[in-house]
Amino acid sequence: MSELNQQYDVVVIGAGPAGSLAASLLTQKGFDVLVVEKQHFPRFSIGESLLPQSMVYLAEANLAQTVEKAADDLAFQYKDGAAFYSKGQYSQFNFEQKFSSGPFSTFQVKRADFDQLLATETKKQGAQFAFGYTVTDIKLNDKPIIDLNDEDDKIYQVSCRFVLDASGFARVLPRLLDLNTPSDFPVRSSIFCHIEDRISDKNYDRNKILIVTHPENDDVWYWLIPFTDGTASFGCVAEPSFFDQLSAEANPEQLLDLCIEQSDHLANLLNKSKKITKVNQITGYSANVKQLYGENYALLGNAGEFLDPIFSSGVTIAFKSASLAANLLEKQFNGEKTDWQSEFADPLQQGVSTFKTYVESWYQGQFQKIINFQQAPDNIREMICSVLAGYAWDLDNPFVNNPKRRLNVLEELCTS
Ligand code: FAD
Repeated sequence: MSELNQQYDVVVIGAGPAGSLAASLLTQKGFDVLVVEKQHFPRFSIGESLLPQSMVYLAEANLAQTVEKAADDLAFQYKDGAAFYSKGQYSQFNFEQKFSSGPFSTFQVKRADFDQLLATETKKQGAQFAFGYTVTDIKLNDKPIIDLNDEDDKIYQVSCRFVLDASGFARVLPRLLDLNTPSDFPVRSSIFCHIEDRISDKNYDRNKILIVTHPENDDVWYWLIPFTDGTASFGCVAEPSFFDQLSAEANPEQLLDLCIEQSDHLANLLNKSKKITKVNQITGYSANVKQLYGENYALLGNAGEFLDPIFSSGVTIAFKSASLAANLLEKQFNGEKTDWQSEFADPLQQGVSTFKTYVESWYQGQFQKIINFQQAPDNIREMICSVLAGYAWDLDNPFVNNPKRRLNVLEELCTS
């Protein structure tokens, strides 16, 4: 890394999707950006299935072509939809048949490679990256001062005009400023790893994420996210009590095997599969904050809020927050009047709360019924398809504009 300067326009904490996208946009707008990342890339991260809406933000940062060009080499899987399997019934949404305009396809990406690719490209665009440096403290005032530790515990200080916290689940600023609030969702846990899937079933569609629900517990579900090299990301989500009931003694690896045994569909599909990474378990990842911005700072991606993995919305929300913040900062640095509530927090929250309604509806069982309702009129399936493709900010879509009421009405139709 080149030497740290004393002063930057913006310091970004974390080089995940939110951090790199924000840095890329701001650098291309002519600002001096430092991204501080405590790890060295490539590093593992969960969250591999992108949504087509995310391609809009990659294009805005001139990064979409880079991702498309690298896809073959990095085993990124073309993705054009989502498939659901529940109690013997298979249902799929093809993103090409969506209500909103915009791209209908995207990729399922190994995040170690994807995050490194975005960071490398953003560095080429002119942003400075400090890998192996951890942000330990921040003094927020007219000119925020940030304390960094290198891996020898040597302390550095840099100052800037604005801090963007994109530190993901580490939530650096919410922790330092006591902004964390409990999520509205119950605590859930995920067990996951990468597998060599060895799937021979001819009907299996590698172009779609597959979501399988547990045969008896509707709030327990599995994901299968294939890549092009015969590997896949696989995981199971449940409340911790479900895993405890399966076995209180089993280690995560054994627990994942027990989870697979519970679903005949998955046990058949994955009967030849082999785990190729350590099995991880994370618990209590849903998070919320009192405020998404304050004096000379804003929170991006998971540092702000994380809902739930069910609709693969995490990276899309991370990109959206980065795009909103970068555009608003450009205005602010150019001396124009800005209002972070109405120009950042509110528009971001509008889409987040749309996703939130769908997540709640999923766990209440309502949205699962709707997904399996094959007789739904085509135009309604197109509107739902749009949300599944990530177009949660398209207020022309009645299922975005008024999601709760629309889902209630549709459920009545399913059950009548
Ligand atoms: P991150 O990607 O977490 O990046 C944060 C970075 O900050 C890290 O690299 C970290 O090392 C760095 N950092 C942390 N602390 C410091 C510090 N003090 N100093 C410097 N650097 C620091 N999303 C999807 O879109 N699709 C999916 O299929 C999906 N599946 C998921 C499955 C599960 C089980 C879970 C829990 C989440 C899933 N997500 C998914 C969500 C997704 O993982 C996140 O939303 C996404 O990674 C958020 O990106 P980010 O840039 O905000 O943070």
